[in-house]
Amino acid sequence: MAILLSFDIDGTLELGDPPGGVTTEMVRKARDVGFIIGSCSDKPLSVQRKIWEDMELTPAFVSAKHQLGKVKRENPADAYYHMGDRDTDYMAAKDNDFGFWWAHEAAEQPWLEFDMNNHEQIPITT
Ligand SMILES: [Mg+2]
Repeated sequence: MAILLSFDIDGTLELGDPPGGVTTEMVRKARDVGFIIGSCSDKPLSVQRKIWEDMELTPAFVSAKHQLGKVKRENPADAYYHMGDRDTDYMAAKDNDFGFWWAHEAAEQPWLEFDMNNHEQIPITT
């Protein structure tokens, strides 16, 4: 069972500019539970990597937002989700058949509701 979570940064992660409601601890916990984690943001990839360094976490991917499809091709998983605070996040998710959470929804850690042993329960889009 593999589920990929793609985090926008600005307005979504607490280390974003502006800060969002998804804390580093939430991202760490998602990693610990076994999700494939990474970022898709309009920030340069080098800046994204620095933010992951600052979180002391190793992402499976960092990507430009318009390349969510490439993330999907390069990271086989049973389900894919992106979260962000802008319409461009929503559109990128829909265009690539990712489930989507707005940043304020993501701050509730909806992924913790998933049964990691039963992917039949997990919608590919929300
Ligand atoms: Mg954003």
